[in-house]
Amino acid sequence: MSEFNLSQALETNRSFVDKVIAESGQDIRQCYQCAKCSGGCPGTFAMDYLPNQIMRMLMLGMKEEVLKSQTIWVCMACNTCTTRCIRDIDVARVMDTLRQEAVKHGYTEKGRLVLIFNDVFLGTVRSYGRLFEAGLLMMNNMRTGNLMKDMQFGLPMMLKGKAKPFPHRIKGRKEIRKIFEETRRREGK
Ligand code: SF4
Ligand code: SF4
Repeated sequence: MSEFNLSQALETNRSFVDKVIAESGQDIRQCYQCAKCSGGCPGTFAMDYLPNQIMRMLMLGMKEEVLKSQTIWVCMACNTCTTRCIRDIDVARVMDTLRQEAVKHGYTEKGRLVLIFNDVFLGTVRSYGRLFEAGLLMMNNMRTGNLMKDMQFGLPMMLKGKAKPFPHRIKGRKEIRKIFEETRRREGK
């Protein structure tokens, strides 16, 4: 195993740690490493690091390891960790900030499927004013190359009236588009 210089990592990445604290509004330095967050997290079976380990790695300035981790993309923002934290740290919010930082720094390889899903999901909301489930399923499968994924659920859902074959357009679509444009403007895109 290669050696890791912790003092150097913290010195080099102190501004990154400060940024995560500022952007998330969470003082990760308050973490006690009690691991209650990880104990309740439903996604740990698919994570490479537990949520409390991510918190510890952050404190130590391990920027690349955290941003390249599978954990931040497996996290489904269920907030269980946040409600369990004995130090009132909103761990889910920290994870969200880390995903944004990963995108900004180009570490998106492990989050590819998540980012495609988000893009398609928001695309249907932007076009129709609300989610179009069948369109989401088809577009997501086309863009990820998994053409038949979850197709067996499509027809039963339609027969039960849980998903419509055609999109329902709401009246305030102009206003919805304005929200998207304003968000883009604020993000500087
Ligand atoms: S928000 Fe993410 S890290 Fe927290 S418990 Fe849920 S899946 Fe785990
Ligand atoms: S529950 Fe809170 S204090 Fe405990 S390890 Fe997780 S983040 Fe740290």
